[in-house]
Amino acid sequence: MSEQTTDLLLIEDLAKEILEKRKSRLLSDIKVWPRTNTYASQVPTCIRQGYYAIKEWDKAKLHDAELQARFNKGKQEETNLIAELVSLGYEIVEQQVPLDKALTERYRLSGKIDGKIKHGGRRIPFEVKSMHPMSFAKVTTIADIKDDHFMIKYYRQMQVYLLGHNEPAGLFFLTDCLGHWKIIPVELNYDDAESVLQTVEAINKHVAKTALPDRIPYDTDICGFCSFAHICLPDVINEAIVQWENNPKVTNILDRLGDLKPAHKEYENLYDQVKEIFKNVRLAVVGKWTVSGKISKRKSYDIPDDIKQKYAKSTENWLIKIHQGEESVE
Ligand code: SF4
Repeated sequence: MSEQTTDLLLIEDLAKEILEKRKSRLLSDIKVWPRTNTYASQVPTCIRQGYYAIKEWDKAKLHDAELQARFNKGKQEETNLIAELVSLGYEIVEQQVPLDKALTERYRLSGKIDGKIKHGGRRIPFEVKSMHPMSFAKVTTIADIKDDHFMIKYYRQMQVYLLGHNEPAGLFFLTDCLGHWKIIPVELNYDDAESVLQTVEAINKHVAKTALPDRIPYDTDICGFCSFAHICLPDVINEAIVQWENNPKVTNILDRLGDLKPAHKEYENLYDQVKEIFKNVRLAVVGKWTVSGKISKRKSYDIPDDIKQKYAKSTENWLIKIHQGEESVE
C-alpha cells in the first residue's frame, strides 16, 4: 500500500470518527423530563396529545440525532440574531423571562419569551424561529403561520406571551439558517388567546381526572407528527409497519420522491417568478432563453344552481400525504 493511500485511509477514518462522536453527543442531548404543565410553545391542536405530554411523558417517541442537530442550530440562530440586533443598536431586555406567574398558576402553562426590544417607550416581545429554507420561503404574513399545521404552535405561543405580558403586539423573527431574515408583526387577538387557554384548560381537566380525552379524527398533518401516535393509535401504526416496513422497491421510490422534492418545489417557485416578470410580455429574449406569452381563453358556462344540482354526481379519490420527519410531500 502506498504512503498516499495510507494517508487517505487515515483521513477517512478520522472523518468517520468525528461524525460518530458528533452523533453520539447529539443522541446524549436528547432528553425528556417529567412535566406537570403545558408548555406555551407546544399547545397542541389535539387535547389528547396534550394529556399524553403530561400523564405519559415518559412514553413520548424521541426524535433522532439529525433533528437534535436541527434544534441545536435553532438555538445558535437565536443567539446570533439577538447579537446582530444589539450590534444594530437595539436594546434587548427580559431575555428568557417566564410567563406571568398568575397565568402559569391558573392554567398550569409555562414558557419563556425569547426577549423584548425597547422601542418608543415600549418593550416589544419577540420570538426567534429558525426554519428550513423551503418553509421560510412560504411565509410572508402572519396568516401563513396561522395556516400551517406545524407553525400554528408559534402563533399560539405568541398569543399567550402577549396576553401574559400585557402587550398589544409582538414580532416574529424568522431565519432560514442561511443568513436571511423575515420580521413578521403579530397582534394580540383576544379570541385566539382565549381559545388557546380553553385548550389548556381542557387538557388540565382531563389530567386532573386521569381521563384520556377522545382522539381527533385521524389527520396525517397532526397525528403523523405526534410523539404519542404509537400508544394512541397502535392498530394504525402496527398495521402500517407490518405491511410495508421491508419493501425495498417501495422504499426506493419514496427515497427518490424525497430527493426530488426540493428541486420540484424550487421549479414551481421559479416558474411563478418568471410568470410574474413576463406578465403581458409577448416575446422576450434573455441570453439563450426565449420567453413567449399569449392570452389564454377558457370558456365557462354560468349554469343556474337548480340545473347544476340536477347533473351533480359525487366521485371519490384516495388522497395521500407522505411524511418524513418535519417535512411532508403532498
Ligand atoms: S395520534 Fe392523533 S389523536 Fe392521538 S394523541 Fe396524537 S394527535 Fe391526538
